[in-house]
Amino acid sequence: ETLEPPEPLRRVSGHNYDADNAHSDRINATLLSLVRNKELKELVQSMQDLERTWNHKFNYPWTFINDEPFTEEFKKVTKLQTKALCRYEFIPKEHWEIPSWINKDLMHESANYLEDQDVQYAHMESYHQMCRWNSGFFYKHPALADYQYYWRVEPNVHFFCDVDYDVFRYMQDHNKTYGFTVTLYDSPPSITTLWPETMKFVAANKHLLAHNNAMGFLTDREQRPEHNFQANGYSTCHFWSNFEIGDMNFWRSPAYEAYFEHLDRAGGFFYERWGDAPVHTIALGLFEDSSKIHWFKDIGYQHIPFFNCPNSPKCKGCITGRLTDGEAWLNREDCRPNWFKYVGNEWEPKL
Ligand code: GDP
Ligand code: MN
Repeated sequence: ETLEPPEPLRRVSGHNYDADNAHSDRINATLLSLVRNKELKELVQSMQDLERTWNHKFNYPWTFINDEPFTEEFKKVTKLQTKALCRYEFIPKEHWEIPSWINKDLMHESANYLEDQDVQYAHMESYHQMCRWNSGFFYKHPALADYQYYWRVEPNVHFFCDVDYDVFRYMQDHNKTYGFTVTLYDSPPSITTLWPETMKFVAANKHLLAHNNAMGFLTDREQRPEHNFQANGYSTCHFWSNFEIGDMNFWRSPAYEAYFEHLDRAGGFFYERWGDAPVHTIALGLFEDSSKIHWFKDIGYQHIPFFNCPNSPKCKGCITGRLTDGEAWLNREDCRPNWFKYVGNEWEPKL
């Protein structure tokens, strides 16, 4: 098994990625982090890993976004981690606040119910707001208007492998919409009505379904002896969205906007705890050609408690193939085998 990307992608020399060159060969992309001031130390950890393994070769700009103003300390310390441009942005209030059609009493009652079902963050309003923002608003932020691709980076994640090619260029050259590292099953009670709502939308918008969609991955009904991850017809398999490399043109399309609007009006970001991960995954799985979704198996990654850890001498600090260093039962949450079963997993044939 080889982890090398196809030959042409290894050519970095000949390109100019100098940090301060306004005419560099960088493509239209930014590293993107929604983050709170109090997560500075954890964010620095993520930045140092990504700069060391990848970005010091390419110097893609960082965009930091927050629902509160960033502190001077936050700006000063993050700037020290990179040669690249850093931008600090504030979320427009109307993109973040709980929408007017949400009934607060019902929201609190629902949170009690979700908590009884062991749904994490049930009562944390800001978490619901964050999930909604990541689902339907980040790509509408005025500071991102001129960017096409993004790489989402969270505080306290780890990158283990030297990656020597420009992954954004890979996305563009290979016509990829979305890249992921880990895919997991989700907590069914957090998304009880997400699939039924989706099916209502699809029934009225059949023309939006992609020909080569990932319906099998989304609706796989395999039962696990220990756990049933099904949520009313949805397998709950989702790309774990704390890592994503994506083309915002997909999120900015009328199809996705209509889908998001439908979900937002249905209220499940607040009456349930719909995550941006299942929302993104379902949209990609239904409305995008699955050949445009790419498993970055060569990017070693950890967001506690899960890893993507390739078998390669370029990777240091993770154990090959291991999904988790948490408790063994966490292994049951791995949904990658379903992706491989329905869609495939290898590098494209040589050009
Ligand atoms: P988890 O990974 O699902 O446990 O959720 P996190 O706490 O890591 O939150 C996901 C991402 O959203 C991280 O990048 C956080 O920094 C960010 N985030 C979560 N809540 C807020 C918030 O209220 N304000 C801001 N600015 N960022 C948030
Ligand atoms: Mn996180």
